[in-house]
This record gives sequence, C-alpha cells and structure tokens, in this order.
Amino acid sequence: MIYLFAWVAVGVCSAAIAAYKGRNIFLWLALGVLLGPLSMIVAGFVLSDPKDDPAAALAHRICPYCSNRLHPSAKMCKFCKRFV
Ligand SMILES: [Zn+2]
Repeated sequence: MIYLFAWVAVGVCSAAIAAYKGRNIFLWLALGVLLGPLSMIVAGFVLSDPKDDPAAALAHRICPYCSNRLHPSAKMCKFCKRFV
C-alpha cells in the first residue's frame, strides 16, 4: 500500500515540475504514475517552450503581417517583403 502511495506521489511531483515548466500537467501526471521516479528525472530535463523564454524572444521578432521569424534589427520582412 505504501508503494502505491509513493508511486502516486512521484506522479504528482512530475506534474508539479511540468506545471512549473509550462507543460501539460495531466500528461506528466500519467507519465509519473507509469514510469515512476524516471519521469521526475525526465521532467527535470525537459526545457520550457522557446516562446516563453525571454532570451529566445529577444533573439528574433515576429512579422506582424505573416508571423514569420525575423532578425531583431530587420527593417523589412524577407518573407512578405513588407516594412516592419
Ligand atoms: Zn512578413
């Protein structure tokens, strides 16, 4: 019985790590219950989405017309040829 409780607790910890990193909580809860402590290690190494990373957001801009990635200093979009 104690093993079942510990296994579910590991799943909850994996879900908590996933929530902190902006990932799907329910997916990681299921993975935590299925894989056990291994899922916590994997969740610890999963990177957050580049969209949420401030350093990645500074590395490029998004064209307001075609939504493609542009160099931060670009004056004209190389995809739709509009000035940004
Ligand atoms: Zn564009």
